[in-house]
Amino acid sequence: MTARDPIADLRRIAFLLERANEATYRVRAFRSAAKAVAALPTAEVAELARAGKLTDLSGVGAVTARCVAESLAGEEPVYLRRLAATEGTDLDAEAAALRTALRGDCHTHSDWSDGGSPIEEMALAAVELGHEYLVLTDHSPRLKVARGLTADRLRRQLEQVAQLNEALPPGFRILTGIEVDILADGTLDQDEELLAQLDVVVGSVHSNLSDERGRMTRRMLTAVANPHLDILGHCTGRMVSTRPAGVTGPGDRGHRRRARGESDFDADAVFAACAERGVVVEINSRPERQDPPKRLIRRALEAGCRFAINTDAHAPGQLDWQRFGCERAARCGVPADRVVNTWPAQRLVAWAASRS
Ligand SMILES: [Zn+2]
Ligand SMILES: [Zn+2]
Repeated sequence: MTARDPIADLRRIAFLLERANEATYRVRAFRSAAKAVAALPTAEVAELARAGKLTDLSGVGAVTARCVAESLAGEEPVYLRRLAATEGTDLDAEAAALRTALRGDCHTHSDWSDGGSPIEEMALAAVELGHEYLVLTDHSPRLKVARGLTADRLRRQLEQVAQLNEALPPGFRILTGIEVDILADGTLDQDEELLAQLDVVVGSVHSNLSDERGRMTRRMLTAVANPHLDILGHCTGRMVSTRPAGVTGPGDRGHRRRARGESDFDADAVFAACAERGVVVEINSRPERQDPPKRLIRRALEAGCRFAINTDAHAPGQLDWQRFGCERAARCGVPADRVVNTWPAQRLVAWAASRS
């Protein structure tokens, strides 16, 4: 039998684990092993496998070593076969149609801020999912816990994105962007000149989430009135508890133990402003966010808003979480023609540019 690509198999396992929202340490084992194996010439890896010494490599444990050995022997690793056999649930027809209509994702993170993977790995996973584009939206400077990008680091990131785009398959593009903090006074946490330069700007509230209603409403209205803001991210800031049974480790992202309520603001006023100004309301697909809640999606729809169904992915496998957002949007009757990431990249970029 001809050998399979063990690196591809390890990455595929990591992707499926992320997609299934499994604990981060489990995913990391496979990504680290893929890295360790990729760092060696194929012949050397094969030699170690023959000698049963793959676990001598730092980053490779018993489980990942078995996967590599099986791949090299030309067999689909048992671990991968089991995962693939038990993955995901089918979407109903409406949600599936919405998912099929999506051409890209407008809210994603890389290891430049608090994501776990390099930009390139995120992009390659997006290509595999059939996306035409990925908007890279790492955090802004004030969000220090998430290693938000200073203006200088963002400029460097733009250079790297330009380079990566040259090497990626034709028909796919990384679009530049940011998830910019909406500060306490409603201003946006990045230089104007940079915001104007980015393809897409997502703005989110991450601090003072329990601001009093009037204050929070004014804060969000100020942000929505900013011509650089294109998409209002996870508008209520709520966290629903989605910790899967059997996961007992420290709180992983996506596995929040405790719920957090919605921020209090005049949703009708904010959605009316979004509709008037052409600011898009995000439907955030993360299982622990599910933001906005369905009753607010319906109100935004009635107000005439457009939507973006985004993953807010912090790892490649999470890019497939759009299905969750599609399910919620379909339940609320959101039609595909109200969703901006059903548009081709060119239209999305032209639309965003026309706003600022
Ligand atoms: Zn956010
Ligand atoms: Zn985010």
